[in-house]
Amino acid sequence: MDTDTGTGTGTDTDTDTGTLTRITPTVWQLPFPVGHVYLVALPGDGYAAVDTGVPGSAPAVLGALARLGGRPDQLRQIVITHSHIDHMGSAADLVAATGARVLAGALDVPYIRGDAPEPPPVVTAGERPLREEMQAHFATAGLPPLRHVEVDIELHDGDTLDDWLEPVRVLHVPGHTPGGIALHLPHSGVLFPGDLIGAAPDGRRAVLGPFNVERETAIASFRRLAALGADIVCVPHGGPILTGARDVLAAATPERDWL
Ligand SMILES: [Zn+2]
Repeated sequence: MDTDTGTGTGTDTDTDTGTLTRITPTVWQLPFPVGHVYLVALPGDGYAAVDTGVPGSAPAVLGALARLGGRPDQLRQIVITHSHIDHMGSAADLVAATGARVLAGALDVPYIRGDAPEPPPVVTAGERPLREEMQAHFATAGLPPLRHVEVDIELHDGDTLDDWLEPVRVLHVPGHTPGGIALHLPHSGVLFPGDLIGAAPDGRRAVLGPFNVERETAIASFRRLAALGADIVCVPHGGPILTGARDVLAAATPERDWL
């Protein structure tokens, strides 16, 4: 099932869990049926994970790290883009296995820690069939129970991550959840948008991510991310946008999505 490695060409677009796709020389995607995980090389043989998948995903993430030549203790950071179960679901298991530090947007920290219940999304009519499909998927997937996790570093808009291979800018992008964050790497043009941006499987069309707590706020966050001029958009759902990202995002109509 492991058909690609870190030395691959990035042309493998198989969406089966376990297939590691090289996005840039220092970014890889590990796809999952719901909620992809991205691994990023850090200085000094370290790695960061952007999101962690649903509960039970840690072995696959550690397997992907091993295929890149990384030991568990080389996973140094886990950045959680927001509090949803398909993003923070395996963070606790990964921390236990690796000792990685957890970073997340400050306003989502109470939900990630389990100190407060997550605000539910306002589900639109257009989102309802997907919602039911996802609930059926989760009901039959036999997921382990969710374990909450301590957050070591609370991130705010305008923060920078200075211990990556290039500067990383943190953007607070509320609307999907109150405290969602995106990461922008201006030098390489890479954007991790969290669930504000979703894409078609071929990465040629972008949509507003569904299931938002405040739709209008999410649309504004989408527009803010689209204006960054990113070249590569590492979406958690759908295919990564690898070419023409500026045009793909400019052509998007989040105001009309999911109505
Ligand atoms: Zn989400």
